[in-house]
Amino acid sequence: MTRTVLITGSTSGIGLGIAIEFAKEKYNIVFNGLEPNGPEIAADIAKQYGIQSLFFPANMLKPEELKDMVNKSTEKFGKIDVLVCNAGIQFVSPIDEFPEEKWNAIMGINLSSAFHLSKAVWPKMKEQKFGRIINIASAHGLVASEFKSAYVAAKHGVVGLTKVLGLEGAPFNITANAICPGYVKTPLVDKQIADQAKAHNMSETDVVNKVMLYKQAVKEFVPVETLGKLAVFLASDGAQTITGTAMPVDGGWNAQ
Ligand code: NAD
Repeated sequence: MTRTVLITGSTSGIGLGIAIEFAKEKYNIVFNGLEPNGPEIAADIAKQYGIQSLFFPANMLKPEELKDMVNKSTEKFGKIDVLVCNAGIQFVSPIDEFPEEKWNAIMGINLSSAFHLSKAVWPKMKEQKFGRIINIASAHGLVASEFKSAYVAAKHGVVGLTKVLGLEGAPFNITANAICPGYVKTPLVDKQIADQAKAHNMSETDVVNKVMLYKQAVKEFVPVETLGKLAVFLASDGAQTITGTAMPVDGGWNAQ
């Protein structure tokens, strides 16, 4: 029977790249994101790869909308086999100027949504004795950088949540793993390049080479395809014993 994957934040960047890799493997895909052209993206990929898709603009800050998305997806496809918690935002500021509303938004979108969604998909995964939860954390789930208090705290939280889900899921063939990317060239990073260039009074090229990729041994942005193919593997039957991990895909940043 065709497997179903729900991917949050899948109408842009990494989430979209992950969706394309699952589409190649003929999964049903539940798309989500705040991009206004979300419905068209979901329909286009379904057509291109001959799969079925749904789209929900559920807001990660609204647990009721998350539950509703899970319920409606389960009604349509019978089950959700794979949950990819990917939606996320970033905000960069020194701690003494960090706006409280940004702290709360980052905690809600980057961390609490993974809790609400995991809780919502769990009973069915338990019943069917199969489930794969893949959280897109970050290299910042394992190490810190200055001016990213909320993001680093939330991503470390995601890694902690992933470990707990890995332990609780083991008796039911539910695995949970966190992928921890280094820098990936997406709209989220494009915005940071521009912001940091202004903040440091540097050219955008210098921001990329001297600030961002400085910490990676491999001086390349991580390709979204790499993350998508890893997610597909972690979702497979053969990955049953890989659980509770936080996997750096960061060009060697965490090796230092
Ligand atoms: P992106 O900005 O391209 O995409 C983010 C997605 O999340 C979009 O679809 C957006 O609509 C969605 N989203 C944001 N707020 C939402 C909300 N309140 N409700 C529902 N959807 C919401 O960013 P990206 O770079 O593709 O990032 C995806 C994930 O990867 C994030 O969790 C990010 O922290 C993580 N990550 C990114 C990088 C990087 O270098 N780009 C590195 C490590 C980790």
